[in-house]
Amino acid sequence: MEDFRDLTFPHHEGALVVLSGGQDSTTCLFWALKRFSHVRAICFRYGQKHVEEVDLAEGIAREAGVPITVLDAGLIGQLSHNALTDSSIAMDSEKPADALPNTFVPGRNLFFLSIAAVHAREHGLRHLVTGVSQTDFSGYPDCRDAFIRSLNVTLNLAMDDQFVIHTPLMWLDKCQTWALADSLGVLDLVRHRTLTCYNGIVGDGCGHCPACRLRRRGLEQYLAAKASEDEQ
Ligand code: ZN
Repeated sequence: MEDFRDLTFPHHEGALVVLSGGQDSTTCLFWALKRFSHVRAICFRYGQKHVEEVDLAEGIAREAGVPITVLDAGLIGQLSHNALTDSSIAMDSEKPADALPNTFVPGRNLFFLSIAAVHAREHGLRHLVTGVSQTDFSGYPDCRDAFIRSLNVTLNLAMDDQFVIHTPLMWLDKCQTWALADSLGVLDLVRHRTLTCYNGIVGDGCGHCPACRLRRRGLEQYLAAKASEDEQ
């Protein structure tokens, strides 16, 4: 785990964080604030059922003093049928054995990161930060490290630029992601002010959807480990 107490900016440059208002990207926002001399955020409306996550992202960014741009990417929601953008489709409560969960939005991270790179370039930023994780990736192919590395090369070739995509959570499980939020001093903010739940309930969520189960299991593991450390 990184230690942020003795802080010097490893990067005297700015970064753009792709912020969704969920646990992972919010943790990444505060990670970026410790690592980069200036930070911006970008957030997308793409027809997601729980569009209040955009308001949460805006509020968190505003309080953190981070300029945020919200863009309409509704086209992405129109392109495919999935349970995150089509309210007539019930969300899978378990990942099907032989298919991607129906909460997968095909191309989402490809589109978002490509748009983010253009936006970053406009603002003279070359560092991009995203909260994807291969460890708990729920079967989403566009959360894998190989995809991110490949896209990084593609973006550089596309714009003759030298982008660096940072994925601080790539190899962390949910318990370690909570630990990171705590080390950044934002455990309570991330716990109570972000939206990860597929049923749209802020904070600890509904408790039974796949996103809540993953998030809660990690939190319980982290809090138990912390309590036993405190006892010693
Ligand atoms: Zn839930």
